[in-house]
Amino acid sequence: MGISENRTLDSERIKILVVDDSRLLRVMMSDLLTANGYEVRTASNSFEAIDMAFYTFSPDLILMDIELGDEMDGIEVAKKILQKKDIPIIFLTAKTSPEVINRIKETTAYGYLEKKVSNEAIISAIEMALKLYSVNNLASMFKHIFENSPNELLITDLQNNKFITANKNARENLGYSEEEIKNLSPRDIAPEILESPIRELIQKLCDKKETSVAFKTYHLRKDKTTYPVQVELNVLDYLGKKLCVANVQDLTYQKVFEKKLAEKDYIIKLLTDSAFDAITVINDEGKVVFWNPAAERIFGYSEKEIINEDVHKLIVPCYEKIENSFVDYMNYFRQKGDLSFLRNPLELMAKNKYGETIYIELTLSPIKLNEKWHAVGIVRDITEKKKSQIEIENMWRMYFELAEHAPVGILRCDKDGNIIYVNKKVLEILGSPSEEETRKINLLTFPHLVGYGFSTKLKECLENNKTIIFEVFYKSIWGKDFWARVHIKPHIESNKVTGALIILDDITDRKILEEKIRRQAIRLRRLSYTDDLTGAFNRRFLLKKLEEEIERVKRYGGNFSIILLDIDNFKKINDRCGHNTGDLALKYVVKTIKERIRKADTLARWGGEEFIIFLPSTPVEKATILAETLRENISRITLPCPEKVTASFGVAGFLEGDTIDSLIKRADDLMYRAKEKGKNCVACQKDVDHINNM
Ligand code: GH3
Ligand code: MG
Ligand code: MG
Repeated sequence: MGISENRTLDSERIKILVVDDSRLLRVMMSDLLTANGYEVRTASNSFEAIDMAFYTFSPDLILMDIELGDEMDGIEVAKKILQKKDIPIIFLTAKTSPEVINRIKETTAYGYLEKKVSNEAIISAIEMALKLYSVNNLASMFKHIFENSPNELLITDLQNNKFITANKNARENLGYSEEEIKNLSPRDIAPEILESPIRELIQKLCDKKETSVAFKTYHLRKDKTTYPVQVELNVLDYLGKKLCVANVQDLTYQKVFEKKLAEKDYIIKLLTDSAFDAITVINDEGKVVFWNPAAERIFGYSEKEIINEDVHKLIVPCYEKIENSFVDYMNYFRQKGDLSFLRNPLELMAKNKYGETIYIELTLSPIKLNEKWHAVGIVRDITEKKKSQIEIENMWRMYFELAEHAPVGILRCDKDGNIIYVNKKVLEILGSPSEEETRKINLLTFPHLVGYGFSTKLKECLENNKTIIFEVFYKSIWGKDFWARVHIKPHIESNKVTGALIILDDITDRKILEEKIRRQAIRLRRLSYTDDLTGAFNRRFLLKKLEEEIERVKRYGGNFSIILLDIDNFKKINDRCGHNTGDLALKYVVKTIKERIRKADTLARWGGEEFIIFLPSTPVEKATILAETLRENISRITLPCPEKVTASFGVAGFLEGDTIDSLIKRADDLMYRAKEKGKNCVACQKDVDHINNM
């Protein structure tokens, strides 16, 4: 529905189309209307009329002859025009029959004129029609505004307290049709309206104490759901009635928005309250406008104590000394909102409320609040971190000192065998002229080290994450030999072998001592079972052997024999040739026996010039034969003196039930028997049996 402009106010004249088949009437009308200030065109038939109405003239009003003498009469032409265009049309007719008047009423006609009426009546009818058209347009405009208002509008007749109408938004939101609304009263959609505060407000309107009232309440939809609303009420008098206009705003979305905003506020509060870091905001004068609990924990000042205080004066150590430069910074920041001259984050020393030094890490960012620059500072307390950093540094220094002066050689290499660290002791052990020379060596590829197998061991450590310990005799390229205990340990960073730690312990002195001890031990061991003078086994060793053999024979069977021999007239050799010759005689006897006996046999010195030969797996007969051979061989020994060396022998084989003592005693007895027989002879068990049997 278009809104026609009020042409009377315009410089342009109002355009009127006169449609009549009578040329005379067209001329008369044209003259009359032109004389009254209208712009007039005329049409003589339906075709011209439609063409001009739509295209060539666009009139503001049409005077339409009903009897057109055409195939269409004026009413039909008017209907056709009105289908597409809203133009006020006044019909002209020669005769007014009830039938014609009824047909006119079917169109939205603005009345009719009889052709014979006076000029004044014609002009007045035209003016009326134009006015009515303009009022209609205005009404439809208001209707349009009312219907399409973004707010919900409801009008109530206060006399019967029933709705007269509600606009589209109101109907749609409440869920009622236009007809249904008309049967409802405000209390049907606003249950709270009955509650006293709202009733009082409305009463004030009715009493004209207020021109409008506003309140918040809930509206009830047809489907019984509710929604929050803001209502503004006005009361107006209309045609003697009191009408109440309710301008309703649905607050659902606003509520949702408010809720979201509140949630956001809550989250921000929660975050700043529970943040581990201090969160502060300072304004462009350096005064604190925000201070969270962590800030209180770190700096000791409560929110109450520090808000609106100059933060720098409180937390910057010796602030007085640097106040001027601070003022300059603040001025610059106030104008530019720029903090980029600061490195973020910044490690600083600060002081807390109690004057204690604390270390902080500060991140600053500018923010414009209420048109002024503010700085948001996020502060982390790194005091503990700093302290432990210092502690670690001290510890490292200590470790370094220890390593430097350690009594062992310490080397660190990377995974490629390059030396990263080498202590003084290493240089000393290797006989290296300098650290520089030493570090030229690659531990994995240096041929000298490869030759010693060191590089292979290091490689194994690096590849298999394995600690390797070994001892090596080493001759360094600088010509120093030493024994070292080498300890290769993988160095691990983030679960990866990144190199190795090598400890060189110079064990040369220890090795020499060990060797000495080893030799001594061998000697002692030998001494413990041999006779010093002759090198024959001693009595203890023989007894042990015999014990084992008796045990073995008892368990597994078999036999063995012993030969006991005593040098004849030894005293005489000593006496006549000297003790040394006596000793020599003993050595010769041992030598002579050793030359003849088997490896498995054992020759032991039993006493001064008495020996026992133990012969495993040997029957007494064979032992006797051996004894005879030995006797003969001994008798051929020549000494550097005229004395002869001979010996007397007793040969005993192991008999069931024998002990060491019984066996040796038997051999000893036999030996004495040989002495008795005139010395330099062999007495065997058979002889004894024979003797015993005698
Ligand atoms: P018999 O023919 O009856 O065995 O007479 P004997 O002189 O050989 O026996 P006796 O027991 O009278 O003397 C043994 C001597 O052997 C006495 C001792 O001084 C000497 N003797 C013992 N051990 C050694 C030794 O290691 N070296 C020397 N040179 N003499 C020793
Ligand atoms: Mg003797
Ligand atoms: Mg003797």
